[in-house]
Formats: sequence, structure tokens, C-alpha cells
Amino acid sequence: MKDCLFCNIINKTVPAKIVFENDKVLAFEDIEPQAPVHVLIIPKKHIMSINDIEFEDKEVCGEILLAAKKIAIDLKIKDSGYRTIFNTNEDGGQTVFHIHMHLLGGRKLKWPPG
Ligand code: 5GP
Ligand code: ZN
Repeated sequence: MKDCLFCNIINKTVPAKIVFENDKVLAFEDIEPQAPVHVLIIPKKHIMSINDIEFEDKEVCGEILLAAKKIAIDLKIKDSGYRTIFNTNEDGGQTVFHIHMHLLGGRKLKWPPG
């Protein structure tokens, strides 16, 4: 998708600090981190939100979770803990419509979210 910010991070026309990449997913540091670790994990396929996931996308959804686990180990927050979030549409606070999992950690996170 030419006009999608995260597709342009995938095709490297927009720079990002990449922390993990394989053939199905890409993970990079959030530009406005809300915690010492704030990584966004995205599928290389353009999917707008959870509402747009199809049955055929189940493999890449699993890849996103496996990437979160690997990044948590690599960034040493596996044992201290972390939070994974998908924001969806307006009430969820979604601002970029290429589905992404936020991986947040490195500090004690509050609950419930605001
Ligand atoms: P959302 O609000 O859609 O759940 O999350 C979008 C996230 O993308 C936000 O946390 C925001 O800081 C991040 N973001 C927005 N633009 C950029 C960018 O150009 N580069 C990176 N690395 N992150 C971005
Ligand atoms: Zn996209």
C-alpha cells in the first residue's frame, strides 16, 4: 500500500530502528516510546486492523506473537514482564491503519489503561 506509513517502513522508504525481521513480520521501535521498551510488531501483509483479519491470516497472527516472545527475550524483559496491545479504531485509540502489536516493557505498567 503506497500511502501506508508502515508499508513504507516495510519497504524501507521510511527509516525505522528495526529490532526483528523475517519473511512474514517486521518489528521496530516506536517513534514516541511510552516505556523504556516500546516496539511495534507488524505483518508484512497490509491488514488494517483486527476487524480485517481473515482466516488465511492466522499464520501471520501467530508469527506476531512468536516475534513478541523473541523480542522480550532479546531485550531482557521476559522475566520482569511486558504488555502486548492491539488498538482498534477510534475507541481503541488506533491511529495507524496497518495492524500492529505494541510491545511495552521495562517499567511497571499501570492497569487499567486510560
Ligand atoms: P496506534 O495509535 O495506531 O495504536 O499506534 C501507532 C503507533 O505508531 C504510535 O505509538 C506512534 O508513536 C507510532 N508511530 C507513528 N508514526 C511513526 C513513525 O513514523 N515511525 C515509528 N517508528 N512509529 C510511528
Ligand atoms: Zn500497510
